[in-house]
Amino acid sequence: MARKTGATQQKSRIIVGATLAVATASVIVATTLATGTSHSTPPAALVAAPAVETNTPPVVEPSCPAGETSVAAEHVGVDGMQNCLPTGSGLTESHVDPLYSEVALELLRTSAPLDESIDIRTPTVVCWNLQDWKQIIEKFRADGVNFGSSLLGWVTPTKGVINLSTHTCKRLDALAHDGATPESTVAASALGTFVHETMHSGSIRDEGIADCYAKQLAYQAAALLGATDDAARMTADLSAEYAHEERAGTEYDDPNCVAGSELDLNVDNTIWS
Ligand SMILES: [Zn+2]
Repeated sequence: MARKTGATQQKSRIIVGATLAVATASVIVATTLATGTSHSTPPAALVAAPAVETNTPPVVEPSCPAGETSVAAEHVGVDGMQNCLPTGSGLTESHVDPLYSEVALELLRTSAPLDESIDIRTPTVVCWNLQDWKQIIEKFRADGVNFGSSLLGWVTPTKGVINLSTHTCKRLDALAHDGATPESTVAASALGTFVHETMHSGSIRDEGIADCYAKQLAYQAAALLGATDDAARMTADLSAEYAHEERAGTEYDDPNCVAGSELDLNVDNTIWS
């Protein structure tokens, strides 16, 4: 999960994933803007597998009309939200954005050679609109899981779908589809959330490692999304600043996340702090 954890000065190095007693019995790795979620180590079945090229496009079920993509309940984590979602960019309804899937695949390809635990796969990336988003939050709450009002994104153990919140997608859309350059750390943090969840979809479960890789891949992600060099650099810089402001000292802040360490992916244009 991607979440803001500024209020949590927890320094646990344990692999964390919010264990959620939801209808689909999923374990979800997410990022939220709230605290108070119970954490646990992942089941053995979720331990990262060796890197395998699984470059297959998002599954389009025959039951979905042309131009729509099937999103199963186990990929969302709550029953009732499975659906055939329109495929496109910047739509007002909940949708699957193919550009974000392509960029996620490229980011996993970039990082996999330096971390063999990463699976190279093409995740489906869902942008949930506000109406559906509220339903998802309510369903989580009904199942005893409270992320507060600020869940930014999450990936279930199926790892097939990156779920992004309404605000995360709007901010990402502004960068990717409207050519806008974020003017605040919050606006830029959507990029970090997207890359963070991409790492989860590639089997990285540790929040600190996911955030560390997200920091290193932020510039590349922005460039792949269509940002100019200056915009990509500024977005990556602001996203790193947001992470520092909100997550320093938490499980999202791995002290080994420095140049030359075992977590250094050796990618160009890394902004370390
Ligand atoms: Zn996470």
